[in-house]
Amino acid sequence: MKSADVGSLKTLLSSPQKIVIIPHKNPDGDAIGAALALNFYLQATGHSSVVIAPNDYPQFLKWMPGTNEVINFEKHNDTAVKSLETATVIFTVDFNELSRIGHMEEAVKNASATFVMVDHHHSPAAYASIMYSDVTMSSTCEMIFHMIAALGGIELISEDMANCLYAGIVTDTGSFKYASTTGKTHRVVATLIDKGAQNSEIHKNIFDTNTASRLHLLGCALKNMVILPEFRTAYITLSQEELDTHQFKKGDTEGFVNYGLTLESIRFAVIFIENKEERIIKISFRSEGNFSVNEFARSYFEGGGHTNAAGGKSNKSMEETVHYFRSLLEQHKNALLA
Ligand code: 5GP
Ligand code: MN
Repeated sequence: MKSADVGSLKTLLSSPQKIVIIPHKNPDGDAIGAALALNFYLQATGHSSVVIAPNDYPQFLKWMPGTNEVINFEKHNDTAVKSLETATVIFTVDFNELSRIGHMEEAVKNASATFVMVDHHHSPAAYASIMYSDVTMSSTCEMIFHMIAALGGIELISEDMANCLYAGIVTDTGSFKYASTTGKTHRVVATLIDKGAQNSEIHKNIFDTNTASRLHLLGCALKNMVILPEFRTAYITLSQEELDTHQFKKGDTEGFVNYGLTLESIRFAVIFIENKEERIIKISFRSEGNFSVNEFARSYFEGGGHTNAAGGKSNKSMEETVHYFRSLLEQHKNALLA
Protein backbone atom coordinates (compact mmCIF):
# COMPACT_ATOMS: atom_id res chain seq x y z
CA MET A 1 0.00 0.00 0.00
CA LYS A 2 1.41 3.42 -0.95
CA SER A 3 2.52 5.46 2.07
CA ALA A 4 0.38 8.44 0.99
CA ASP A 5 -2.71 6.19 1.04
CA VAL A 6 -1.72 4.73 4.41
CA GLY A 7 -1.45 8.31 5.70
CA SER A 8 -4.87 9.27 4.29
CA LEU A 9 -6.44 6.12 5.74
CA LYS A 10 -4.89 6.73 9.16
CA THR A 11 -6.29 10.27 9.14
CA LEU A 12 -9.70 9.05 8.01
CA LEU A 13 -9.82 6.44 10.79
CA SER A 14 -8.31 8.66 13.49
CA SER A 15 -11.78 9.39 14.90
CA PRO A 16 -14.73 6.98 15.24
CA GLN A 17 -16.58 6.50 11.94
CA LYS A 18 -19.83 4.88 10.81
CA ILE A 19 -18.58 2.34 8.32
CA VAL A 20 -20.18 0.04 5.76
CA ILE A 21 -18.11 -2.73 4.16
CA ILE A 22 -19.31 -4.11 0.83
CA PRO A 23 -18.18 -7.29 -0.98
CA HIS A 24 -19.19 -7.94 -4.61
CA LYS A 25 -22.40 -9.66 -5.71
CA ASN A 26 -22.38 -13.46 -5.30
CA PRO A 27 -19.56 -13.05 -2.78
CA ASP A 28 -16.88 -15.74 -2.75
CA GLY A 29 -14.56 -16.71 0.10
CA ASP A 30 -12.15 -13.86 -0.66
CA ALA A 31 -14.83 -11.16 -0.77
CA ILE A 32 -16.70 -12.29 2.32
CA GLY A 33 -13.51 -13.20 4.24
CA ALA A 34 -12.03 -9.76 3.56
CA ALA A 35 -15.26 -7.99 4.56
CA LEU A 36 -15.65 -9.95 7.82
CA ALA A 37 -11.99 -9.61 8.86
CA LEU A 38 -12.04 -5.87 8.15
CA ASN A 39 -15.28 -5.57 10.11
CA PHE A 40 -13.65 -7.17 13.18
CA TYR A 41 -10.64 -4.89 12.84
CA LEU A 42 -12.69 -1.70 12.55
CA GLN A 43 -14.86 -2.65 15.52
CA ALA A 44 -11.73 -3.42 17.57
CA THR A 45 -10.40 0.05 16.77
CA GLY A 46 -13.48 1.91 17.99
CA HIS A 47 -15.60 2.29 14.87
CA SER A 48 -19.17 1.30 14.29
CA SER A 49 -19.21 -0.95 11.24
CA VAL A 50 -21.39 -3.43 9.35
CA VAL A 51 -21.01 -5.69 6.33
CA ILE A 52 -23.71 -5.37 3.65
CA ALA A 53 -23.62 -8.06 0.97
CA PRO A 54 -25.51 -7.41 -2.32
CA ASN A 55 -27.02 -10.91 -2.10
CA ASP A 56 -26.65 -14.28 -0.41
CA TYR A 57 -23.56 -16.48 -0.53
CA PRO A 58 -22.99 -20.26 -0.41
CA GLN A 59 -23.57 -22.37 2.67
CA PHE A 60 -19.97 -23.61 2.63
CA LEU A 61 -18.89 -20.09 3.68
CA LYS A 62 -21.40 -19.70 6.50
CA TRP A 63 -19.13 -21.19 9.17
CA MET A 64 -17.15 -17.96 9.04
CA PRO A 65 -17.02 -15.92 12.24
CA GLY A 66 -19.32 -12.89 11.98
CA THR A 67 -21.42 -14.42 9.20
CA ASN A 68 -24.66 -14.03 11.19
CA GLU A 69 -24.28 -10.25 11.32
CA VAL A 70 -23.92 -9.81 7.56
CA ILE A 71 -26.83 -7.77 6.17
CA ASN A 72 -28.21 -9.15 2.91
CA PHE A 73 -29.21 -6.14 0.77
CA GLU A 74 -31.90 -8.18 -1.03
CA LYS A 75 -33.50 -9.48 2.18
CA HIS A 76 -33.10 -6.49 4.53
CA ASN A 77 -33.26 -3.65 2.09
CA ASP A 78 -34.53 -0.93 4.48
CA THR A 79 -31.85 -1.55 7.10
CA ALA A 80 -29.19 -1.69 4.39
CA VAL A 81 -30.28 1.54 2.70
CA LYS A 82 -30.38 3.36 6.07
CA SER A 83 -26.86 2.21 6.92
CA LEU A 84 -25.61 3.38 3.53
CA GLU A 85 -27.29 6.79 3.93
CA THR A 86 -25.74 7.43 7.34
CA ALA A 87 -22.30 5.92 6.63
CA THR A 88 -19.31 8.24 6.82
CA VAL A 89 -16.96 5.70 5.27
CA ILE A 90 -17.63 2.89 2.77
CA PHE A 91 -15.04 0.19 2.12
CA THR A 92 -15.54 -1.79 -1.09
CA VAL A 93 -13.61 -5.06 -1.08
CA ASP A 94 -12.67 -7.50 -3.85
CA PHE A 95 -14.19 -5.52 -6.72
CA ASN A 96 -13.38 -2.25 -8.45
CA GLU A 97 -16.42 -1.08 -10.40
CA LEU A 98 -19.82 -0.39 -8.88
CA SER A 99 -21.66 -2.47 -11.51
CA ARG A 100 -20.27 -5.51 -9.65
CA ILE A 101 -22.76 -4.98 -6.79
CA GLY A 102 -25.88 -5.40 -8.94
CA HIS A 103 -29.05 -3.82 -7.54
CA MET A 104 -27.12 -2.21 -4.72
CA GLU A 105 -25.34 0.14 -7.12
CA GLU A 106 -27.91 2.95 -6.99
CA ALA A 107 -28.03 3.18 -3.18
CA VAL A 108 -24.24 3.10 -2.97
CA LYS A 109 -23.82 5.77 -5.66
CA ASN A 110 -26.12 8.06 -3.67
CA ALA A 111 -24.14 7.67 -0.44
CA SER A 112 -22.20 10.68 0.78
CA ALA A 113 -19.50 8.61 2.53
CA THR A 114 -15.78 8.62 1.74
CA PHE A 115 -15.02 5.55 -0.36
CA VAL A 116 -12.04 3.27 0.20
CA MET A 117 -11.29 0.51 -2.36
CA VAL A 118 -9.29 -2.60 -1.49
CA ASP A 119 -8.99 -4.82 -4.55
CA HIS A 120 -6.73 -6.91 -6.80
CA HIS A 121 -8.54 -6.81 -10.18
CA HIS A 122 -7.48 -4.99 -13.34
CA SER A 123 -8.75 -1.54 -14.47
CA PRO A 124 -10.14 0.05 -11.29
CA ALA A 125 -12.92 2.63 -11.76
CA ALA A 126 -12.46 6.05 -10.17
CA TYR A 127 -15.13 6.11 -7.43
CA ALA A 128 -12.88 5.85 -4.35
CA SER A 129 -10.93 8.64 -2.62
CA ILE A 130 -8.49 6.12 -1.17
CA MET A 131 -7.47 3.28 -3.48
CA TYR A 132 -5.46 0.25 -2.49
CA SER A 133 -5.46 -1.54 -5.84
CA ASP A 134 -2.76 -4.12 -6.64
CA VAL A 135 -3.16 -6.74 -9.38
CA THR A 136 -0.07 -8.63 -8.20
CA MET A 137 -1.81 -9.63 -4.98
CA SER A 138 -3.07 -13.20 -4.52
CA SER A 139 -6.28 -12.07 -2.89
CA THR A 140 -8.07 -9.17 -1.26
CA CYS A 141 -7.64 -11.00 2.06
CA GLU A 142 -3.87 -10.82 1.67
CA MET A 143 -4.27 -7.08 1.03
CA ILE A 144 -6.42 -6.61 4.14
CA PHE A 145 -3.59 -8.23 6.11
CA HIS A 146 -1.02 -5.81 4.60
CA MET A 147 -3.34 -2.87 5.17
CA ILE A 148 -3.84 -3.75 8.83
CA ALA A 149 -0.07 -4.17 9.16
CA ALA A 150 0.49 -0.74 7.57
CA LEU A 151 -1.97 0.77 10.04
CA GLY A 152 0.04 -0.79 12.88
CA GLY A 153 -2.67 -3.27 13.83
CA ILE A 154 -0.99 -6.70 13.50
CA GLU A 155 -1.37 -7.26 17.24
CA LEU A 156 -5.13 -6.85 16.87
CA ILE A 157 -5.47 -9.79 14.45
CA SER A 158 -7.63 -12.23 16.41
CA GLU A 159 -8.29 -15.90 15.79
CA ASP A 160 -11.61 -14.99 14.14
CA MET A 161 -9.94 -12.51 11.79
CA ALA A 162 -7.18 -15.02 11.00
CA ASN A 163 -9.78 -17.66 10.08
CA CYS A 164 -11.57 -15.24 7.73
CA LEU A 165 -8.37 -14.06 6.03
CA TYR A 166 -7.02 -17.59 5.66
CA ALA A 167 -10.29 -18.70 4.02
CA GLY A 168 -10.08 -15.88 1.47
CA ILE A 169 -6.46 -16.59 0.58
CA VAL A 170 -7.16 -20.32 0.19
CA THR A 171 -10.12 -19.55 -2.07
CA ASP A 172 -8.34 -17.16 -4.42
CA THR A 173 -5.06 -19.06 -4.67
CA GLY A 174 -6.77 -22.41 -5.43
CA SER A 175 -5.24 -23.72 -2.18
CA PHE A 176 -1.91 -21.98 -2.86
CA LYS A 177 -1.44 -23.42 -6.35
CA TYR A 178 -2.03 -20.43 -8.66
CA ALA A 179 0.88 -18.34 -9.94
CA SER A 180 -0.32 -15.38 -7.85
CA THR A 181 0.82 -17.22 -4.71
CA THR A 182 4.12 -15.67 -3.59
CA GLY A 183 6.56 -16.12 -0.76
CA LYS A 184 4.91 -13.10 0.79
CA THR A 185 1.52 -14.86 0.60
CA HIS A 186 2.95 -17.86 2.44
CA ARG A 187 4.51 -15.60 5.09
CA VAL A 188 1.11 -13.96 5.64
CA VAL A 189 -0.50 -17.39 5.88
CA ALA A 190 2.15 -18.55 8.36
CA THR A 191 1.36 -15.56 10.56
CA LEU A 192 -2.36 -16.28 10.29
CA ILE A 193 -1.82 -19.87 11.46
CA ASP A 194 0.30 -18.55 14.35
CA LYS A 195 -2.62 -16.29 15.22
CA GLY A 196 -4.97 -19.26 15.41
CA ALA A 197 -6.32 -19.88 11.89
CA GLN A 198 -7.53 -23.48 11.85
CA ASN A 199 -6.09 -24.29 8.46
CA SER A 200 -7.05 -27.94 8.19
CA GLU A 201 -10.58 -27.28 9.44
CA ILE A 202 -11.02 -24.41 6.94
CA HIS A 203 -10.03 -26.58 3.97
CA LYS A 204 -12.57 -29.17 5.10
CA ASN A 205 -15.30 -26.56 5.57
CA ILE A 206 -14.79 -25.05 2.13
CA PHE A 207 -13.93 -28.04 -0.05
CA ASP A 208 -15.26 -31.18 1.62
CA THR A 209 -18.94 -30.39 2.03
CA ASN A 210 -20.27 -32.14 -1.06
CA THR A 211 -23.82 -33.36 -1.36
CA ALA A 212 -24.80 -36.28 -3.60
CA SER A 213 -26.77 -33.90 -5.83
CA ARG A 214 -23.74 -31.63 -6.31
CA LEU A 215 -21.55 -34.58 -7.31
CA HIS A 216 -24.22 -35.69 -9.78
CA LEU A 217 -24.37 -32.13 -11.15
CA LEU A 218 -20.60 -32.28 -11.60
CA GLY A 219 -21.07 -35.54 -13.48
CA CYS A 220 -23.58 -33.82 -15.74
CA ALA A 221 -21.24 -30.87 -16.30
CA LEU A 222 -18.32 -33.13 -17.20
CA LYS A 223 -20.51 -35.12 -19.58
CA ASN A 224 -21.48 -31.86 -21.28
CA MET A 225 -17.86 -30.75 -21.72
CA VAL A 226 -16.90 -29.94 -25.31
CA ILE A 227 -13.21 -30.13 -26.15
CA LEU A 228 -11.81 -28.14 -29.06
CA PRO A 229 -8.18 -29.29 -29.37
CA GLU A 230 -7.61 -27.01 -32.38
CA PHE A 231 -8.07 -24.02 -30.04
CA ARG A 232 -6.74 -25.70 -26.87
CA THR A 233 -10.14 -24.86 -25.42
CA ALA A 234 -12.73 -26.76 -23.39
CA TYR A 235 -16.17 -25.52 -22.39
CA ILE A 236 -19.05 -26.75 -20.27
CA THR A 237 -22.72 -25.79 -20.41
CA LEU A 238 -25.32 -26.20 -17.69
CA SER A 239 -28.92 -25.37 -18.49
CA GLN A 240 -31.47 -24.26 -15.90
CA GLU A 241 -33.23 -27.57 -16.39
CA GLU A 242 -30.07 -29.49 -15.58
CA LEU A 243 -29.52 -27.34 -12.49
CA ASP A 244 -33.11 -27.92 -11.35
CA THR A 245 -32.85 -31.67 -11.86
CA HIS A 246 -29.87 -31.71 -9.48
CA GLN A 247 -31.44 -29.46 -6.81
CA PHE A 248 -28.90 -26.72 -7.55
CA LYS A 249 -27.98 -24.52 -4.60
CA LYS A 250 -25.78 -21.41 -4.64
CA GLY A 251 -22.13 -22.41 -4.79
CA ASP A 252 -22.73 -25.89 -6.21
CA THR A 253 -20.93 -25.08 -9.49
CA GLU A 254 -17.90 -23.54 -7.75
CA GLY A 255 -14.72 -24.95 -9.28
CA PHE A 256 -16.39 -26.86 -12.15
CA VAL A 257 -14.74 -24.60 -14.75
CA ASN A 258 -11.28 -25.68 -13.59
CA TYR A 259 -11.72 -29.27 -14.77
CA GLY A 260 -11.13 -28.25 -18.40
CA LEU A 261 -7.68 -26.95 -17.53
CA THR A 262 -6.64 -30.29 -16.02
CA LEU A 263 -6.52 -31.70 -19.57
CA GLU A 264 -2.91 -31.55 -20.65
CA SER A 265 -3.40 -29.70 -23.92
CA ILE A 266 -6.08 -27.27 -22.71
CA ARG A 267 -5.19 -23.64 -22.02
CA PHE A 268 -8.64 -22.01 -22.02
CA ALA A 269 -11.61 -23.33 -20.05
CA VAL A 270 -15.09 -21.87 -19.87
CA ILE A 271 -18.39 -22.68 -18.18
CA PHE A 272 -21.76 -21.28 -19.28
CA ILE A 273 -24.47 -21.47 -16.62
CA GLU A 274 -28.04 -20.54 -17.39
CA ASN A 275 -29.87 -18.33 -14.87
CA LYS A 276 -33.53 -18.16 -15.92
CA GLU A 277 -34.49 -15.81 -13.08
CA GLU A 278 -31.94 -13.16 -14.07
CA ARG A 279 -32.42 -14.02 -17.77
CA ILE A 280 -28.69 -14.34 -18.32
CA ILE A 281 -26.03 -16.89 -19.01
CA LYS A 282 -23.37 -16.43 -16.33
CA ILE A 283 -19.92 -17.27 -17.66
CA SER A 284 -16.63 -18.14 -15.94
CA PHE A 285 -13.36 -18.08 -17.85
CA ARG A 286 -10.04 -19.63 -16.82
CA SER A 287 -6.72 -19.79 -18.65
CA GLU A 288 -3.20 -21.01 -18.20
CA GLY A 289 -0.29 -18.89 -19.42
CA ASN A 290 -0.50 -15.54 -21.20
CA PHE A 291 -3.98 -15.68 -22.74
CA SER A 292 -5.87 -12.94 -20.87
CA VAL A 293 -9.39 -14.01 -19.99
CA ASN A 294 -9.80 -10.60 -18.34
CA GLU A 295 -9.49 -8.96 -21.77
CA PHE A 296 -11.64 -11.63 -23.42
CA ALA A 297 -14.44 -11.25 -20.86
CA ARG A 298 -14.21 -7.46 -21.00
CA SER A 299 -14.27 -7.34 -24.83
CA TYR A 300 -17.12 -9.76 -25.50
CA PHE A 301 -19.10 -10.59 -22.36
CA GLU A 302 -19.52 -7.41 -20.23
CA GLY A 303 -17.14 -8.80 -17.65
CA GLY A 304 -13.58 -8.76 -16.40
CA GLY A 305 -11.37 -10.09 -13.64
CA HIS A 306 -7.78 -11.32 -13.67
CA THR A 307 -5.48 -12.50 -16.47
CA ASN A 308 -6.18 -16.17 -15.70
CA ALA A 309 -9.62 -16.01 -14.03
CA ALA A 310 -12.51 -13.82 -15.10
CA GLY A 311 -16.27 -13.75 -15.42
CA GLY A 312 -18.94 -12.22 -17.57
CA LYS A 313 -22.49 -12.67 -18.82
CA SER A 314 -24.63 -12.90 -21.91
CA ASN A 315 -28.24 -11.88 -22.46
CA LYS A 316 -28.66 -14.29 -25.37
CA SER A 317 -29.93 -17.87 -25.16
CA MET A 318 -27.49 -20.65 -24.28
CA GLU A 319 -27.37 -21.81 -27.88
CA GLU A 320 -26.69 -18.33 -29.25
CA THR A 321 -24.15 -17.58 -26.53
CA VAL A 322 -22.16 -20.72 -27.25
CA HIS A 323 -22.38 -20.08 -30.98
CA TYR A 324 -21.07 -16.53 -30.50
CA PHE A 325 -18.30 -17.78 -28.21
CA ARG A 326 -17.18 -20.38 -30.74
CA SER A 327 -17.18 -17.78 -33.52
CA LEU A 328 -14.65 -15.71 -31.53
CA LEU A 329 -12.04 -18.44 -31.18
CA GLU A 330 -10.60 -18.29 -34.70
CA GLN A 331 -9.42 -14.68 -34.27
CA HIS A 332 -7.69 -15.64 -30.98
CA LYS A 333 -6.15 -18.82 -32.34
CA ASN A 334 -2.56 -17.49 -32.35
CA ALA A 335 -2.77 -16.37 -28.74
CA LEU A 336 -4.39 -19.63 -27.67
CA LEU A 337 -1.78 -21.78 -29.39
CA ALA A 338 1.23 -19.63 -28.40
P1 5GP B 1 -15.81 -16.52 -11.11
O1 5GP B 1 -15.67 -17.08 -12.48
O2 5GP B 1 -15.18 -17.41 -10.09
O3 5GP B 1 -17.17 -16.06 -10.78
O4 5GP B 1 -14.93 -15.19 -11.11
C1 5GP B 1 -13.57 -15.16 -11.53
C2 5GP B 1 -13.01 -13.77 -11.33
O5 5GP B 1 -13.67 -12.84 -12.20
C3 5GP B 1 -13.25 -13.21 -9.92
O6 5GP B 1 -12.11 -12.46 -9.55
C4 5GP B 1 -14.47 -12.34 -10.07
O7 5GP B 1 -14.46 -11.29 -9.15
C5 5GP B 1 -14.36 -11.84 -11.51
N1 5GP B 1 -15.71 -11.72 -12.13
C6 5GP B 1 -16.67 -12.67 -12.17
N2 5GP B 1 -17.75 -12.24 -12.84
C7 5GP B 1 -17.47 -10.97 -13.23
C8 5GP B 1 -18.21 -9.97 -13.95
O8 5GP B 1 -19.35 -10.17 -14.38
N3 5GP B 1 -17.58 -8.78 -14.15
C9 5GP B 1 -16.30 -8.53 -13.70
N4 5GP B 1 -15.75 -7.34 -13.96
N5 5GP B 1 -15.59 -9.44 -13.02
C10 5GP B 1 -16.16 -10.65 -12.78
MN1 MN C 1 -10.49 -11.93 -4.93
